[in-house]
Amino acid sequence: MTTISAVKAESYDTQVVEQAMDELLGLIGSMEHYVKPGEKVLIKPNMLEGLSPEKAVTTHPEVVRAVIKAVKAAGAVPVVGDSPAMGNTLKAAQKTGILAICQEEGIQLLPFQHAIDIPFLAGTMVRKFVLAQELKAVDKVISLGKMKTHSLTGVTGGIKNLFGFVVGPNKAQFHLRMQKRSDFAAMLVDLAQAVNPVLFIIDGIVGMEGDGPRNGTPCKGNILLAGTNGFAVDMVMAEMMGFRGDKLPVVAQALRQGLVPLRAEITVTGSAQNTSLSFREPKNMSALDTVLPKWLAAWGQQQLTAKPVIAPNCVGCRRCAEHCPPQAITLINNQASIDYARCIRCYCCQELCPHNAVNLKNGTLLNAILKLCGRK
Ligand code: SF4
Ligand code: SF4
Repeated sequence: MTTISAVKAESYDTQVVEQAMDELLGLIGSMEHYVKPGEKVLIKPNMLEGLSPEKAVTTHPEVVRAVIKAVKAAGAVPVVGDSPAMGNTLKAAQKTGILAICQEEGIQLLPFQHAIDIPFLAGTMVRKFVLAQELKAVDKVISLGKMKTHSLTGVTGGIKNLFGFVVGPNKAQFHLRMQKRSDFAAMLVDLAQAVNPVLFIIDGIVGMEGDGPRNGTPCKGNILLAGTNGFAVDMVMAEMMGFRGDKLPVVAQALRQGLVPLRAEITVTGSAQNTSLSFREPKNMSALDTVLPKWLAAWGQQQLTAKPVIAPNCVGCRRCAEHCPPQAITLINNQASIDYARCIRCYCCQELCPHNAVNLKNGTLLNAILKLCGRK
């Protein structure tokens, strides 16, 4: 039986988080069960961008501290590492408060800068990844994700968090190669197995609803979650947020591959086991493209997914244009302009816009289908 622990934590007060973390890990066998004395353990928080913890875009520094302490108490050597979508790791760590925590706890922060080949011969989508070289220099990995919505993958919890092992600009290549959402999800399933974290922990004390992973709204969840099967952790987390966990593209793929049990076979234990929230979902169709045959996929991607639309508050900063994988964005009169014939609906522009000037808009056909399905 797969067990997920879920405990209440009502603030980011250091003691509250530490106590909750002890309880959380105790329910699944304590940290000593997963890391051994002397092992080097890489804690991978969600450090999407250098933003203050109050924005709820990144894993809160106090949750990072609590995991560092738990790893230390088990006699292992914690390090923290990531490669944010924007800017360099040190700057992002400084703004998110994670650098200060690493300094206070006397541990190393590893900026993922150089990548090496990591073969994964069992992959269904990718058989050789190019990932941060730090992965080879540590004994264990802990994914320390954030409870957030995500326009492309539905949610970003423990599994999508691992995309940070793809160093900087290489991320765009995956979006170009895997334009169908189900293909991108299959890649994440392969990635999760290649990285193979020993533990997935989620900071849901304050999560994000709506237009996640960057431009949504902070939303209190008062919860921490943990488990060894990241797909199960994400499935339970999504369900607690108010979504169908088994319909998430990544979880659905993991179910098809037999990598996660059915929800009915997953036990949730702890003081927050009955959590039921109603997070606003990202403005997008959750999984229609996953059922399209390949010959329909390109058309479906255009018609059956929401399209990014530039809002009048665009200030022409160029960030979206610089990071659009197929270079579908140009600046015209200091405003971003999208060539929809080239747009692959990866939503990087919406994710990265610092002014929340990219909205997702459903087309007429998508709205009609949503209406038919009773979702509008
Ligand atoms: S990132 Fe946002 S503000 Fe900057 S050019 Fe693109 S849409 Fe405009
Ligand atoms: S315009 Fe936006 S959604 Fe379309 S491909 Fe570029 S970054 Fe992705």
